[in-house]
Amino acid sequence: MNQTSEFSLIKAYFSALTPDRDDVILGIGDDCALLKPPADQLLATSVDTLVSGVHFFADVDPYRLGHKSLAVNLSDLAAMGARPAWFTLALTLPEANSDWLKAFSAGIADLAKQHHLQLVGGDTTRGPLAITIQATGFLTAHKAFRRDAAKVGDKIYVSGTLGDAGAGLLLKQGKLPLANLTEPDQQFLLDRLELPTPRNLLASQLVGEIQSAIDISDGLLADLQHILTASQVGAIIDTNALPLSAVLQKLPAEQANKLALTAGDDYELCFTMPANTAGVLEAALDGQVTCIGEITEFSGLKLLPENIQQNLDVNPGYDHFS
Ligand code: ADP
Ligand code: MG
Repeated sequence: MNQTSEFSLIKAYFSALTPDRDDVILGIGDDCALLKPPADQLLATSVDTLVSGVHFFADVDPYRLGHKSLAVNLSDLAAMGARPAWFTLALTLPEANSDWLKAFSAGIADLAKQHHLQLVGGDTTRGPLAITIQATGFLTAHKAFRRDAAKVGDKIYVSGTLGDAGAGLLLKQGKLPLANLTEPDQQFLLDRLELPTPRNLLASQLVGEIQSAIDISDGLLADLQHILTASQVGAIIDTNALPLSAVLQKLPAEQANKLALTAGDDYELCFTMPANTAGVLEAALDGQVTCIGEITEFSGLKLLPENIQQNLDVNPGYDHFS
C-alpha cells in the first residue's frame, strides 16, 4: 500500500476504534506503542493469524470476520486466566475497500469495547487477505491457568456447549442434513462458527479457583490431550455428559457426539478443578459449566461408555493438525 493511502486508511478506520485505557501512554501513531503494565502483574501475550481460504471463507461477512479475529485472541487470554488489556492488528489487504473496512473494524470495535481492550498499534500491507492480532493481558503469577497443572483426581469441566461451530462449518459446506433444522437453528450454528463468544467473563470467575485450562479451538479431544501431555496424566470422559445445544441434539446422536468431541472453533474453555472444591464452584457458576470427566493416573484418554470409541470411530490421541 502506498504511504498516503496507508496513513489515511489507518486514520479513518483504526486510530480511534477502541476505548482509551489509562495504561496506554502512547497508542497508534508513533514507531511503537508505550504501555504501562501494573507493577505486580505478569503480562500474558498471544498471537493468532487468520488467512483467507484457510481459516475463513473469502466472502465471509467482514463484521463477523473482525469479531472472530479478536475473539480467538481473547479466548487465549481467557484460557490463561489473564485480564485483556491491549492488542495490535497486522492487516494484509488485497485492496482498500471502504465498506469492507468499515464493517470489519466495527466487528473488532464492538468486541473490544465489551472487554475494555485498546488497539495500540499494527501494520497495514497489501497482499492476500490475512489478519494477525496479538493480544496482551495481565495476571498474577501464581494464578495463571497452565496446561501442565492438572492433578490426578481433578474434575474436568467445559463451558457452554460443544460441536456447534463444527456443525456450522458442515452447514456452510452443504454437508449437514437440513430436514429437522429450522432457519433459526441454522442461524444459531452459523453464529457459533462466525461469532464465537470468548469466555473471558467466566475465566475471571475462575481465577484463584482453578490451576489448569485450555480453550477449545481444535476440538475437545485434541485440546484436552495438550493438558494431559503437559501434566503427565490421563483422563476419563463420559460422552453422555457432553453439553450439547438444543440444535445439535436435533442431529443424529452419533454425529452430534462426534462433533462435540472432535470439531474445532467452539472457543469454549476446558479446565480442571480439584474434586473437593468443584461442587461449590460449579453451583456458583450457575449452569455455565458442565463436568464431563476426571483426571486419572493412567496415561491416555478413555471414553465412556465402554464401546463408544469404536462406535464413533474417534481416536482420542489423534492429532487434528497432522
Ligand atoms: P512504521 O513504518 O513505523 O512501521 P506504520 O506506517 O506501519 O509505521 O504505522 C504507523 C502507525 O500506525 C504505527 O503506530 C502503527 O502501529 C499504526 N498502525 C499501522 N497499521 C495499523 C493497523 N492496521 N491497526 C492499528 N494500528 C496500525
Ligand atoms: Mg509498519
